[in-house]
Amino acid sequence: MFADMGFNVIKVKVGKDPDRDVRAVEEVWRAIGDRASIRLDANQGYDVSTAIRAIRRIERICPIESVEQPVPRWDVEGLAEVRRAVRTPIMADEAIFGVHDVFKVARARAADIINIKIGKVGGIYPALKVAAVAESAGLKCAVGSNLELGIGAAAGLHFAASAIPVTVAGDLMIGPYLHERDIADRCLERLVMQGESVLPAGAGLGVEACAQW
Ligand SMILES: [Mg+2]
Repeated sequence: MFADMGFNVIKVKVGKDPDRDVRAVEEVWRAIGDRASIRLDANQGYDVSTAIRAIRRIERICPIESVEQPVPRWDVEGLAEVRRAVRTPIMADEAIFGVHDVFKVARARAADIINIKIGKVGGIYPALKVAAVAESAGLKCAVGSNLELGIGAAAGLHFAASAIPVTVAGDLMIGPYLHERDIADRCLERLVMQGESVLPAGAGLGVEACAQW
């Protein structure tokens, strides 16, 4: 369904039960075929050996675009160990709260992609610095989300557009569809409903308040 709507990356949350994770990814892959690529996010849920085993099993079933944060955020060496043991690119998410973390991850060769979330790193300016450090280390960036509402999602979208030289497909999600009382208007609707990244026009972030507010 989402593949038909224009989303070209489907993210599958894994990290709890490797057997269940392998089955889930296989089912998603059977449903979408080659219409979209699959990205995994383990949310720090595996230890190093479980991560390596699970990712290798999944690699035998279908191509995976990347695996996000397979091991706990503090275990940069473990992340590097996983990266060396699998073919799939590794994305660091919870391990990255600022420029120093990017430096540490880059130095350990622990990831291929950095997931930047504006709220996580402390705003648009810190996010730009994280992107710059990643770029200097030859790393790609994705722009992620912490389920912000409309204003936060618009900021992420503008940031992603401004940092395009280093960005890969992100996964911005928009809270208005989780929270009907979001003050932002519906200008971002196409992003979440049709998989299109439409940059809001207008002053500031280009978001206007809903009429009822
Ligand atoms: Mg994540």
